[in-house]
Amino acid sequence: MRSYYIAGNWKMHKTVAESVALATELKDKLASCGEKVLIAPAFTALSAVAVVVKGTNIMLGAQNMGPEEQGAHTGEVSVLMLKDLGVRAVILGHSERRHSYFETDELVNRKLLLALKHGIEPILCVGETLEEREGNRLEEVVGTQVRKGLTGVAAVELAKVTIAYEPVWAIGTGKTATPEDADAVHAFIRKEVKALYGEAAAKSLCIQYGGSVKADNAAQLMAKPNIDGALVGGASLKAETFVPIARFR
Ligand code: PEP
Repeated sequence: MRSYYIAGNWKMHKTVAESVALATELKDKLASCGEKVLIAPAFTALSAVAVVVKGTNIMLGAQNMGPEEQGAHTGEVSVLMLKDLGVRAVILGHSERRHSYFETDELVNRKLLLALKHGIEPILCVGETLEEREGNRLEEVVGTQVRKGLTGVAAVELAKVTIAYEPVWAIGTGKTATPEDADAVHAFIRKEVKALYGEAAAKSLCIQYGGSVKADNAAQLMAKPNIDGALVGGASLKAETFVPIARFR
């Protein structure tokens, strides 16, 4: 039986004490959860949450990182600093980074290669806006994000990469892609990856869906053959809403 990858993106929420409290609750309530679970608190809470999740089945993730290892880059956080704290995965190219902070595919790709170089598993976020979808540009946009995001990734490294399909119009809006629509885009992503890396790599690639995932739609989404997990924003901020998603089956 395949295991699913459920990740919580806490975004710019929670003080250190609040983050520790939520991580502690999740650690207890998900102790016997068989899925791969990741939580990504704000940078300021990473070291405190690292202590809570150390040795548990919950992985520590970051929401972003700088494209350089170190140096004169005011305000950036380095992959080396994340690694030092026990961070195991990093969310890259989230639509909020792409649209509010103008991150390009090239920048996202530099970060992704750097994460892989240091053994941190990247979650590469891709997704179209409503305007792009309605203009029949979904495949062009998502295909470009996938291909440019993976540029230079060796076949042996692909197994460490997760792709998160997050339609921008579904993030934080309460609108979810139907399981059928999401599955069709996931199948398209798999096809793109197959063209780059071959059938076996495409089959084993983990593709999460993100966009208003809740306890009441998680099971239908993850029942689809091409949906291997969820990247959860709003519903990851409370144990009572995140735990049922991670325990959707
Ligand atoms: C996200 O930010 O990655 C996300 C999917 O948010 P939400 O679940 O709130 O739509």
